[in-house]
Amino acid sequence: MNDSISRENADLRKRLRAFVTQANENQSKLQRFQDLQLRLMQATSLPDVLENILYAYRREFDHDAVSLLLADEHYEIRRILNTLEWDRHEHPNLLFVENIQALQQAFPDNLSPKLGSCDNTCNLLFFPQHTSKYASIAIFPLIRQQTLIGALSLGSHDASRFVAGSATDFLSSLTAVLAICLENSLNNERLKLLGILDSLTGVHNRRYFEQRLKEECDRATRLQQPLSCLYFDLDHFKHINDEHGHATGDTVLRHVSRQIKKFMRISDVMARLGGEEFSALLVNTTQESAVEIAERIRQQICAEAFAMAGKIKLNITISIGCATLDSHYQLNPEITGAQLVKAADQALYQAKHQGRNRVVCAESLLRLDEQSA
Ligand code: GH3
Ligand code: MG
Ligand code: MG
Repeated sequence: MNDSISRENADLRKRLRAFVTQANENQSKLQRFQDLQLRLMQATSLPDVLENILYAYRREFDHDAVSLLLADEHYEIRRILNTLEWDRHEHPNLLFVENIQALQQAFPDNLSPKLGSCDNTCNLLFFPQHTSKYASIAIFPLIRQQTLIGALSLGSHDASRFVAGSATDFLSSLTAVLAICLENSLNNERLKLLGILDSLTGVHNRRYFEQRLKEECDRATRLQQPLSCLYFDLDHFKHINDEHGHATGDTVLRHVSRQIKKFMRISDVMARLGGEEFSALLVNTTQESAVEIAERIRQQICAEAFAMAGKIKLNITISIGCATLDSHYQLNPEITGAQLVKAADQALYQAKHQGRNRVVCAESLLRLDEQSA
């Protein structure tokens, strides 16, 4: 009798220990989920949100694979990431889908999460970077305002990690928070861009240019790399406005900004400084290369007449001034930046003086007290 009671006691104690261990594990897991959710909510930028999910989450929860698929029908998110100079090619687990229907079809069961094995279609959509399939997967739809905006996918080599029908409370709450944070950070990036983009041409504006000018001069002097500045001004633009109207002038400005932009690398800065004037900062670019790029831009713009509606063709030409900051300028970046742009502007003035439609290079940077010369 005593024996059987003590056996029962031992058994109960064992089960209780197992419950306590399970409760502790759940408590610790919940704590980690809450910490992650808090970090996502505190993220200050879109890359910050993405990195918390793609890397920190994977590490902390020991997942074999975490990938995030975002619906980006109009290429907008990728454009924002480019502007932020966050190179998405370095993050193969961040995926984009243009065809929203393909994403919707992956959740036929009323947008509920998918857990279990991974078929070929599912592997192709959510883990295209992995040739071998995962033993088990969990795919959670990201939904905002009744719209499917993407999916968070987890892959495991262990077939028992994600089993159809198991509870998904923690993960469902994480994906709900993630969807809100993604939407918020995207909206913030859109707002930031509105403040630094030129509304007519969509390229950066003077405010952004000046901010980057300081940073790039600082970087160039620190790394002892050359930094070149191109200053562009359309030739006889007033004439285009007068002859064909302001709206045509606007179309020409958009066309020219696109032409210049084509020659820029992702690290370069290109902005409309005002009116029909643009400027570009070419990072780690010698004077020789900068002149070569400027010359190619000039030729591209005058190469063929720009066709407007109603069969009007406009011959557009541009004058370009170029100046380079080389490694022996170790000045205050703020002053150096102003000198660099001023020198490019003065070279542009020479180009106009010499007959327009040409590139002129500044001999050296101007001293600021020569500005009014
Ligand atoms: P130059 O070859 O000497 O540069 O001659 P220009 O006629 O281009 O020179 P100027 O700088 O005197 O004229 C610039 C004109 O650009 C004057 C202004 O009306 C026009 N402009 C400025 N901003 C805009 C704009 O946003 N849209 C349009 N359509 N025109 C603009
Ligand atoms: Mg002008
Ligand atoms: Mg002009």
